[in-house]
Amino acid sequence: MSSSYYYNGNQYIPRDASNGNNGFITASLASSAIMGTIMPLCSKPFERQLAREHSQNYLYKDAFYKAAEASGLNKKGVKIIPMEYSKLINDYTAGKNASYSPRERLVRINTDKISIAGFHELGHAWNDIKGNLGKVLSKLRWPGRIAAGWLGTIALFSSPKPKDAPKNTFDKIKENSGKIAFACMLPTVLEEGLASYHGIKIARKTGLAEPLIKNMKKLYKKALLTYAGHAAATGLAVGAANMIMQKFTRPKKVENEYWNLFS
Ligand SMILES: [Zn+2]
Repeated sequence: MSSSYYYNGNQYIPRDASNGNNGFITASLASSAIMGTIMPLCSKPFERQLAREHSQNYLYKDAFYKAAEASGLNKKGVKIIPMEYSKLINDYTAGKNASYSPRERLVRINTDKISIAGFHELGHAWNDIKGNLGKVLSKLRWPGRIAAGWLGTIALFSSPKPKDAPKNTFDKIKENSGKIAFACMLPTVLEEGLASYHGIKIARKTGLAEPLIKNMKKLYKKALLTYAGHAAATGLAVGAANMIMQKFTRPKKVENEYWNLFS
């Protein structure tokens, strides 16, 4: 057993490397369990509706091909790559995903299956090219996600100081790592919401019938739930990792009843 020491009138026993290792394993398992439970729960409704949309794609396809022109995005060089002609086998060709690349100004989408999702991708293009807040948010997405990853690492560090010891900046960041990680994910969630908002506006410009717009809104809400779920799960997983590491590695206070009676 490590030798104890006194701090602020309390006796503490420092933890050793095996506490740190056990904490690391427990915290890692808890984090993956949290991510693995929350994320599928939040993404299933979207995935289910997107799969159903394949059968009524014909209702959206013509309007989608009009959308780049109706929004004026074609004049800015935005082009559509119909993935149904690609020989690759991936989520794009299977109609499970679509994307917008700001660098290339290209929308990749299977327009034979999920044209309904294409308006949202054009909404990303709108954010990136014509948006104000949208442009800022889209530039913050990747740095935010990288920072959230770092906070996940910081949460897994040991907490070698007693609970009431003075805190430096790093201690404060570590203690709030869950909340900060969640905040770092917010630009992504907000930019996704804004892309859907502009996507729906673009769809209206093409003259798409209102019941079809309504169905599109339903799908887009479910897509947003996927991103919000990812942000929440990240915050909770990072916060839990930090709490578990504190439990395992913080110096143990020796409760001395004798001392308490007379102090
Ligand atoms: Zn999106």
